[in-house]
Amino acid sequence: MYLKRLEIQGFKSFADTLKLDFNKGISAVVGPNGSGKSNIADSIRWVLGEQSAKTLRGSKMEDIIFAGTQNRKPLGFAEVTITFDNSDGKIPISFGEVSITRRIYRSGESEYSINGTSCRLRDIYELFMDTGVGKEGYSIIGQGQIDRILSSKPEDRRFLFEEAVGIVKYKNRKLEAEKK
Ligand code: ATP
Ligand code: MG
Repeated sequence: MYLKRLEIQGFKSFADTLKLDFNKGISAVVGPNGSGKSNIADSIRWVLGEQSAKTLRGSKMEDIIFAGTQNRKPLGFAEVTITFDNSDGKIPISFGEVSITRRIYRSGESEYSINGTSCRLRDIYELFMDTGVGKEGYSIIGQGQIDRILSSKPEDRRFLFEEAVGIVKYKNRKLEAEKK
């Protein structure tokens, strides 16, 4: 599985549709200060279901919608689509390519879809559970996070290993079953 494509529209500084194609291997995003490099990483976190505005460096979720500039009006919604190559089947769904889309309006409403079919946020969490991608994954290591991992309590650090070995799904199912 690898990140194949990212399409960003109306998210933070990207008023026009931005399409980024990635290949297998290493890609680097370079650019001057304030040009939007971190906004790209934020868009990946967001499309995979991030619910915390603070994690996305804002104070409320609406802050991720393009706010306008001197000669450009603010936009009414933001939309990001992330596409993974799934030819190795690491994502448990029978598609060779998996696209996740999230759209948000100023009212705060979010819509999600998997390969064009609308779904719940929960479906996205479940799809990426144990893949290392996703909200609780370790595929995005932010500034300061390494320190946090090293100095965290053993119980908290254990979660990272559980995700890596792929047992989070089963632990969650057990918890759900116990609730019923
Ligand atoms: P650095 O090298 O300093 O880390 P960077 O390339 O990571 O910079 P970003 O933090 O991604 O830069 O981009 C910051 C820019 O995004 C700022 O100019 C900010 O005004 C703009 N920005 C953030 N949110 C919005 C928004 N909702 N609407 C318009 N512009 C926004
Ligand atoms: Mg940055």
